Amino acid sequence: MVRRYGEARAALAYRACVGAIEQLAERAGALGDVAFRPCRSLYWASHRRHVRDLRAEFEARGRHGIDVEWCGPEDIEAMYGFRAPAAILSHRAAQVDPYRMAQRLLLRLHRGGATVHDHEEVAELHATSRRVVLRTVSGFQVRARHVVIACGYEGQRWLRRRVARNRSSYALVSDPLPVALLRPLASSLLWETARPYLYLRTTPDHRLLVGGEDDAIDVPARRDARVMAKADRLLQRARKLFPQLPLQPAFASGRHLRRDKGWTAVVRCASAMGAARAVRDGLWR
Ligand SMILES: Cc1cc2nc3c(=O)[nH]c(=O)nc-3n(C[C@H](O)[C@H](O)[C@H](O)COP(=O)(O)OP(=O)(O)OC[C@H]3O[C@@H](n4cnc5c(N)ncnc54)[C@H](O)[C@@H]3O)c2cc1C
Repeated sequence: MVRRYGEARAALAYRACVGAIEQLAERAGALGDVAFRPCRSLYWASHRRHVRDLRAEFEARGRHGIDVEWCGPEDIEAMYGFRAPAAILSHRAAQVDPYRMAQRLLLRLHRGGATVHDHEEVAELHATSRRVVLRTVSGFQVRARHVVIACGYEGQRWLRRRVARNRSSYALVSDPLPVALLRPLASSLLWETARPYLYLRTTPDHRLLVGGEDDAIDVPARRDARVMAKADRLLQRARKLFPQLPLQPAFASGRHLRRDKGWTAVVRCASAMGAARAVRDGLWR
């Protein structure tokens, strides 16, 4: 980050990240029951040639007060059971259920008198100098003085100029695993230096969530056609890293794609919220 943006800007970003975790902890504590968990994060070098840059990243984080530890291949193997040339272990990370947290925030707004229209898509937005009129796909109309657009990756639909291209990401969720086998995965977020990267984390009910295999597909039907192959690949990679885990992919809502071998997958996710919702609908209902 320092090489790309300079020391001062990198420091700002590092501090903002640490601050965000503290703010999230505070907000999650106030809301309650949002599966907030402080944890560690392991960022491992996918290839030996990535170690030099990873080391520079480690030193920069350390200079700016982030609690990080450098791990060699033996450390990684001893702690996580797989081999990698090096890794940064960060002790300042956290995990939350974003779907539950969003629902809790909306509930709080609702109790405070705000009107919440869930499962409603804004189709049109007309702004004049005095007001904004929104029309939803179900035909409702909302008039307001101001609108805050927080549509995530969909946000560029409301911009005059295209500023980004959407990509697709894939994820699968396993059936619950024996807690004893998950340690120390249960308290860690893992990701690697390769791009696109593989990431792994666990859910509060001891499932393993594996994501990655991003591609440039931006057409839902084409993306859907790839889901099973992508899930297969994610599963193979997770099994290679953690052969001791009896990984069985679980069902997810909306996309129950069955294969002959007897396992099914997966969540096609346009956003982490989407993934969380699909996992929740499918597995936690
Ligand atoms: C697979 C995946 C994994 C990720 N993992 C992580 C992670 O581990 N940690 C992390 O920090 N970030 C992660 N991210 C990034 C993170 O999800 C985003 O940065 C974050 O969700 C952005 O939040 P947001 O509120 O801006 O948008 P979103 O969470 O995308 O929310 C936007 C909301 O707006 C709604 N919306 C869109 N268009 C309309 C419309 N026209 N009318 C009404 N509603 C609309 C959507 O349905 C959605 O609910 C991940 C992203 C992906 C895709």
